[in-house]
Amino acid sequence: MSTDKRYDYDLFTIGAGSGGVRASRMSAVHGARVAVAEERYLGGTCVNVGCIPKKLLVYGSHFADDFEDAAGFGWTVGERAFDWPSLIRNKDQEIARLNSIYRGLLQSHGVELFESRARVLDPHTVEVAGRKVTAANILVATGGWPTVPNVPGKEHAITSNEAFHLPEMPRRVVIVGGGYIAVEFAGIFNGLGAEVTQLYRGPLFMRGFDIDVRNTLADEMRKKGIDLRFEADIAGIERNGKTLTATLKDGQALETDAVMFATGRLPNTRGLGIEEIGVELARNGAVVVNENFQTNVPSIYALGDVTDRVKLTPVAIAEAMILARVLFKGDVGPMDYRNIPSAVFSQPPVGTVGYTEEAAREHCGEVDVYRTAFRPLKHTLTGRDEQTMMKLIVERAGDRVVGCHMVGADAGEIIQGLAVALTCNATKADFDRTIGIHPTAAEEFVTMREPVSGGD
Ligand code: NDP
Repeated sequence: MSTDKRYDYDLFTIGAGSGGVRASRMSAVHGARVAVAEERYLGGTCVNVGCIPKKLLVYGSHFADDFEDAAGFGWTVGERAFDWPSLIRNKDQEIARLNSIYRGLLQSHGVELFESRARVLDPHTVEVAGRKVTAANILVATGGWPTVPNVPGKEHAITSNEAFHLPEMPRRVVIVGGGYIAVEFAGIFNGLGAEVTQLYRGPLFMRGFDIDVRNTLADEMRKKGIDLRFEADIAGIERNGKTLTATLKDGQALETDAVMFATGRLPNTRGLGIEEIGVELARNGAVVVNENFQTNVPSIYALGDVTDRVKLTPVAIAEAMILARVLFKGDVGPMDYRNIPSAVFSQPPVGTVGYTEEAAREHCGEVDVYRTAFRPLKHTLTGRDEQTMMKLIVERAGDRVVGCHMVGADAGEIIQGLAVALTCNATKADFDRTIGIHPTAAEEFVTMREPVSGGD
């Protein structure tokens, strides 16, 4: 690539999260002179207050069930005690290690790091650490931030950001919201022994997921003792010493030690200076970009959560790989947003790829639906009443599998493999001729023969 010497850098990235670091690093690999500014923590939400610490807490909380289940296999597990500060300390140590890996990755690729807030002054100038620097291209990769509804007493509540650093484990928790973060933390706190009440404002949580996933997960979370309430929302919070009282819209009052809002995340664009120089933002603050991640100001780009499209780390990383090529290799390759798999690390977890049954009926015409629900082999000895649910949605005209959904142990691990099949346009006949691995739960995905319902 040729470098424009009028500017200090070829690329200045704001935000060293998953997307920003990958775009910076790959641009440097393609020969660009790159700098990145980060005011908070290297690795962004995913590494510091998202995917990674969340999954560590999920592992930690699962031991309660594992100790109980061990009895069915002949084990006597002695006295158990859980120490929240140890878990948090160990988790923080691991995150510090990851932060330094991110730092090393930037350094080893020659990317200059400013550990400071950056502000865009004009289409090629950024103010950072008291200096003005110029760049041919500016990338906004500032991610998102939890948003909390404006209810009286909201200042007494926490979000996922604080949940990762609580000095002690709350004995009782009220979680507001019915999406990814709400169900994941309901499972974490429940597994660690707290009394959990989860409030969702609509008739059924996990909007956007397949209907059988939503119903199965609700049943399983209730079986684990989570007080899951639908058509329930919070009206206000009062503090009385260490105790909080959450008043619901129907007038009920819940005494609790913590109220956690998991009511969505908004793009982080405030105070960046981009609106002032004419970069188009959506009503919720998201940066509006074209298929090459370019804003209406041609030298300014954005990707990842700040664009509020698909808020998932691997998507931001894939976008970053494409952007680096677009900018410094001259390639133009639109990102393929079809068949993005995802997992929710609820307990039990959810894995999903492709269309929900409802969306498949809308986009694919007639469909056949295959579904199975069973008690996993492990639980025949534990006695645990837990169901695994698996579902395939097949486009009748072309026999293509257009959706795979699962609730059950290892759902994320299983669906990752099936996502490859969907990306390759696998048909139901391809699934049928695939030999199962016995005995696994996953083999059910290749042995479902009779549709439960057809298209109409
Ligand atoms: P989600 O958008 O998934 O869920 C927000 C929830 O809060 C919804 O149930 C929503 O209800 C509800 N809600 C929104 N506003 C209000 C309000 N004012 N009062 C009451 N309830 C409200 O957001 P999350 O915060 O859970 O997560 C943000 C994103 O981060 C996710 O969408 C996902 O992309 C990503 N993520 C991915 C994870 C993974 O891959 N495992 C894990 C965690 C996050 P309604 O449905 O009615 O709008």
